[in-house]
Amino acid sequence: PPFPIVLSGTVQRGFGRGGKDLGCPTANLPDESILPMSSVTRTGVYFGYAQISPEKDSKALLQEQDCQVLPMVMSLGWNPFYKNERMTAEIHIMHEFASDFYGHEMKAIVLGYIRAELDYVSREALIEDIETDKRVALKSLARPGYEKFRADPLFDGGH
Ligand code: ADP
Ligand code: MG
Repeated sequence: PPFPIVLSGTVQRGFGRGGKDLGCPTANLPDESILPMSSVTRTGVYFGYAQISPEKDSKALLQEQDCQVLPMVMSLGWNPFYKNERMTAEIHIMHEFASDFYGHEMKAIVLGYIRAELDYVSREALIEDIETDKRVALKSLARPGYEKFRADPLFDGGH
């Protein structure tokens, strides 16, 4: 089994489209950080844990509560801009952040697959499905077999 898959990189600016409007901002990882996902390549929605570092340009900018190990859902897809030759990974962290964290280091452990990518007839249908993804992720992560990854040595404060 390919999981857990570890990803890390600096949070990039995307097109700023949709995420915040849908109530679901997604932090983008740079192309080279997604290479570990090559072992699965299956597009769709994944779940796991993520952590944002407090510092950017060696200045501490985020509060402690924003830098815990937090549950996340990740969408993996192909980037049409690069003729679908490159994957994109966008991570929504289930936490209310005090501010944006572009340029901060993000570490993630991908633990499982939730569903394939779907086409949506409406914005409402999409929002509803994202809510379902979050519930599924939280339910799975509550199992002891997954909970332990919250304390993985990859993360700061992990053991
Ligand atoms: P972009 O196209 O630049 O990725 P989004 O609308 O998807 O724009 O917003 C993503 C940005 O929002 C992230 O890079 C991060 O700085 C910020 N953000 C705030 N809260 C969250 C969250 N809970 N999960 C992910 N990103 C968040
Ligand atoms: Mg985004």
